[in-house]
Amino acid sequence: MNIEQILNYQNLDGELFKIEKRLKDNINKKNANIMRENMKTAQAHSLKLEEKASKLLEDIDKVKKQFKVQQDKIAQMVERGTNSLSDQEIEKTNSLIEKLSQNLTILEKNLTSLAESMNVILSDFNKTIKSFNSAKEKYSKFKEGFDNDQRAVEERQVKLENELKALAKKVDPKLLEAYEKRRKENIFPIFVELKGNSCGGCHIELPYANIAKLDSDKILTCEHCHRIIYKK
Ligand SMILES: [Zn+2]
Repeated sequence: MNIEQILNYQNLDGELFKIEKRLKDNINKKNANIMRENMKTAQAHSLKLEEKASKLLEDIDKVKKQFKVQQDKIAQMVERGTNSLSDQEIEKTNSLIEKLSQNLTILEKNLTSLAESMNVILSDFNKTIKSFNSAKEKYSKFKEGFDNDQRAVEERQVKLENELKALAKKVDPKLLEAYEKRRKENIFPIFVELKGNSCGGCHIELPYANIAKLDSDKILTCEHCHRIIYKK
């Protein structure tokens, strides 16, 4: 089995792997992702605030209606006047008006507290919108940075991919298949030399039976890191 060609292939592919890894770990990309998450969080939070606000408005409406009912009752009593009433009835009316007034005071307090809650929601909403806008602005900047970083290596990437395609034709298909499979698993380098009695990738010592097998088969998959070990 000739592994010379797959080693050449791996050598060239190493540069492509590095480019891909750098793009994967790209700081602009990472920051853009963080900003996108921040935007999503702000959006979800503002939705919650909208729900809260609409519930609060309903509550305020209810209290206002109750307030109106109490107010109307008082107005009716005042309008009726006390001329035709007995002392007992006047006393009863007065105590009822007093009770209704107390209700009004309570409802007024409720309204004030609801209005305060609404203000808290509004200020939270404004803050959320600000943080959404700031995240959006930063996202655009980081995204643009990443696009530029990507464009900067694009040409080299395409060239390497074409060279690899040409080189692949010279490689033993079985070796190439084993290579591509591991490459997708993000293993690199894939073909490693036997170092002493150990895997050249993970440095774990091989059992003697495996070393004997390597002598006859020329290549062996490392049980530990799944790289392909070869012996020169
Ligand atoms: Zn290994």
